[in-house]
Amino acid sequence: MLRLEDTYRHKGQRKALVSILRSKGIKNEAVLEAINTLPRHFFFDTALDSHAYEDKAFPIGEGQTISQPYTVAFQTELLEIKPGDKILEIGTGSGYQASILHLMGGIVHSIEYQKKLYDRTKKFLTKLGIPINFYLGDGSQGIPSQAPFDKIIVTAGAPVVPNSLLKQLNIGGILVIPVGDRNTQKMMKLTKKTEKQIIQEEYDNFAFVPLLGEEGWRSK
Ligand code: SAM
Repeated sequence: MLRLEDTYRHKGQRKALVSILRSKGIKNEAVLEAINTLPRHFFFDTALDSHAYEDKAFPIGEGQTISQPYTVAFQTELLEIKPGDKILEIGTGSGYQASILHLMGGIVHSIEYQKKLYDRTKKFLTKLGIPINFYLGDGSQGIPSQAPFDKIIVTAGAPVVPNSLLKQLNIGGILVIPVGDRNTQKMMKLTKKTEKQIIQEEYDNFAFVPLLGEEGWRSK
């Protein structure tokens, strides 16, 4: 069952979480403010509620996870979100990352591969009044019918950078994606300077669930 009560205790725990994220190097105030504002415990099953403000990933069912707050903050910071940005998120999961992007002023399109998660999260965020455009399908190929995007964030680990995603990025756009093997991935930021020039930056290692699909891992 989902709990929709945001108490002083929860607010205090969020503040403490923001301090932890600052101490780990997150500097973008808009990112920290969004994390301070959004009740992460809304996205947890009541049985796990007490863990909502730990800086950890947690199971959300269907073998998937809600990303660690530090990972959400790190990826969001790399995206350099500006209000009005058209953003594609691959891997809707619990909807927490999509909600953070919305709170920062993004117009969010989010795609999920697993029908149960898609149905559940779409219903839940609609109930919360958070306007996300939801899609069910293989996000490793992006969403050609909605392209181009200013920003693309992939929240599952990819074996390579999918070509389709680079194609669907606006000039000046940014793609943030963890790339590596099934256990560990390097966070990458790709900035599309011109149709032919892509600047690639590499960051620390992370551990994501695999990006499945045509331009991801072909099997579970
Ligand atoms: N962003 C999510 C959140 O805020 O809770 C966490 C995402 S979870 C770490 C990764 C998600 O990617 C899972 O829900 C998984 O089903 C989804 N996924 C994996 N491959 C996918 C694909 N090809 N297209 C769309 N979603 C995919």
